[in-house]
Amino acid sequence: MDLFGMLERYDFGAIHVGHDAASGMHCIVALHDTRLGPAIGGCRFLPYADERSALVDALRLARGMTYKAALAGLPHGGAKTVMLRPDKLHDRAAVFRAFGRFIDGLGGRYFTAEDSGTGIEDMEVVRQVTKQVVGTGGSGGSGDPSPFTALGVRRGIEACVMLTLGRSSLDGIHVAVQGVGHVGYQLCRELHEQGASLSVADVDPLKSERAEREFGARVVPLDGIFEVDCDVLAPCALGSALNDATIPRIRAKIVAGAANNQLAEPRNGDDLHSRGIVYAPDYAINAGGLINVALELEGYDAARSRERTMRVYDTIYAIAERSQHSHTPTYRVADLLVEETLARAGT
Ligand code: NAD
Repeated sequence: MDLFGMLERYDFGAIHVGHDAASGMHCIVALHDTRLGPAIGGCRFLPYADERSALVDALRLARGMTYKAALAGLPHGGAKTVMLRPDKLHDRAAVFRAFGRFIDGLGGRYFTAEDSGTGIEDMEVVRQVTKQVVGTGGSGGSGDPSPFTALGVRRGIEACVMLTLGRSSLDGIHVAVQGVGHVGYQLCRELHEQGASLSVADVDPLKSERAEREFGARVVPLDGIFEVDCDVLAPCALGSALNDATIPRIRAKIVAGAANNQLAEPRNGDDLHSRGIVYAPDYAINAGGLINVALELEGYDAARSRERTMRVYDTIYAIAERSQHSHTPTYRVADLLVEETLARAGT
């Protein structure tokens, strides 16, 4: 597919390509949509097989950010930067300074943040040359997003439990959590505090043992997590957990977790729907981290961030309710809600 064909496929937007000979900085800044406001999206710094795969990664991820921000009710569009990491890196700070200067020239339409292969230290360097960055440390910074992501996921689970099981509390609800890393661990804490019982699986036994010790979770084998006889399955590990092999084995009535890109294929969302399983669309339920970091642009306040993240309940409830009434899979309902919001925002 040619360049403009790809832009059409992902419904873009603009792509800005930056190059700085002195530092060796090569970046692709994909601005998917800015109708709702300046776009926010992380900066990846990874080795890519070729420029085309870097471009596809940027386009795909930027589009996802537009959808996540719109559904979270944020005044922001979606973007993503992919920086091509060279084999030999001579001066990392020079690369990020050059990147900062580049995005400073984009007319305030883009805010960057850390992502795979970048960290807070890199964003501090970017901050030296531009204000177009969020997720830095120090005063005014929003810190670790994981507890906010976990809070939003807990609220999304509560909405699904209310709608599906008619229960207003998680007391006695059994949740199987796949992956108890940064978000999964915080989610277990949230759920445990609400009286839920837990089953967990993680490739790192130390992490699942910590959940067992601290929250009384039952540790199950990695592959067994899909077959746990529970109320909620919460995928919090890698993408594509919901696929042709796993969906037929799921015994939970609800699937609601933090991982990005949980559906291996969009049609797997139809499979869940036809099995009568309520699926909380990933980008709707895991928006707490984005909500938290976006607040830096208004003046960061943890209490306000918590209060806004609590509203993930309403978003998930509205999606699941419309799905029930319209007999449409939840992932499609979420997309439709975003498309309606963007259309209202005009051109
Ligand atoms: P993490 O790396 O800290 O945790 C992932 C955990 O999953 C690790 O403990 C890992 O050992 C485990 N794992 C990997 N493969 C597994 C498998 N097959 N079975 C069971 N466990 C497995 O990452 P995180 O920050 O907790 O993020 C988890 C997911 O949530 C990711 O998909 C991420 O993109 C998404 N997400 C995270 C945030 C955030 O605030 N950190 C925000 C939005 C979305």
